[in-house]
Amino acid sequence: MPLPPHLFDSHLHTPLCNHAEGSPREYAQAALDLGLSGVCFTDHIPMPAWFDAEWRMKRGQLDEYVQTVKDVQREFGGRLVVRLGLEADFHPGTERYVAQILEEHPWDYVIGSVHYIGAWGFDNPAFKDEYRQRDLAGLYRHYYALVEGAARSTLFDAIGHLDLPKKFGDTDPDGMAALHALDVIAMQGLSLDFNTAGWRKPVKEAYPAPDLVRAAATRGIPFVLGSDAHAPAEVGYRFGDAVKEIHDVEGVIVSYAGRERVG
Ligand SMILES: [Zn+2]
Ligand SMILES: [Zn+2]
Repeated sequence: MPLPPHLFDSHLHTPLCNHAEGSPREYAQAALDLGLSGVCFTDHIPMPAWFDAEWRMKRGQLDEYVQTVKDVQREFGGRLVVRLGLEADFHPGTERYVAQILEEHPWDYVIGSVHYIGAWGFDNPAFKDEYRQRDLAGLYRHYYALVEGAARSTLFDAIGHLDLPKKFGDTDPDGMAALHALDVIAMQGLSLDFNTAGWRKPVKEAYPAPDLVRAAATRGIPFVLGSDAHAPAEVGYRFGDAVKEIHDVEGVIVSYAGRERVG
C-alpha cells in the first residue's frame, strides 16, 4: 500500500553521534525514494562531558551538524523538505545546559527523551542485564516521573519513544503506568514521537504501545512519525503500519515546524 502524501520522517540521526552510519544526504535520498515529503534530522544533543560522552556529538561539533543539515537542505531544495532538529536528553540537573544549546540555533523540532534512570542507560544493550536487578513496576514509575519532568520542563516539542524501557521485552506490568505522564504531555501541549524503531527491537512493538496510542489520541495529543534511523535503510521504517495504527484510533499526525497536519 502506498504511503499517504505529505509524510515526514522526523527522527533521524547522523554519524556525528558515533553510533549511526551513512551520510545525511543518503538519509534524505532514502526519504525521497520512499515518497516522503520531508525529513527532520534530530541527532543526539551534546551533553555535559560527564554524561554519556561517547554516544553523541561534542559541543564543538554542533556548528558542523547545523551546517551539514543546511547543506542537505540546499541540495534537496524543491524536492524534499529538510528540517533541523535535535533529540535532547532530559536528565535532572542538565536542564540549563540543554537550554543553552537550544538557544544557540532556531531548531525546527526538539524531541525530549529519557534514556537514563539515575546512572543507568537503560536502553543500551550492554546494560540490559540490569533489568533483572530491578522491580519492573517501580522502574516504570520512576521512568514516567522523569518523562513528566521532561514534559513540564518546557524545553521540548515532543516526548521521544514514550515507553522505551520495554525495548528488550520488559514491558510495563501495570500496562498503564504512562497515563499520568500522558495527562501532563497533553496539558503542556506536546506531541508524541511515534517511533517505529521498536518494531526493529526485541519487543517488536512501536513506541508507544497500541493501548498508549489510543490513550494519547483520546487526550488530543498529536503524533510525529519517526523511524529513529541510525542508517539510511531505516528511514521511513514501517510508516504504513504506523499510519494505520494512528488512524485506527482517530489520532492526528503532525510535522514540524508549524505543527502542520500531514496525514
Ligand atoms: Zn542513537
Ligand atoms: Zn532516543
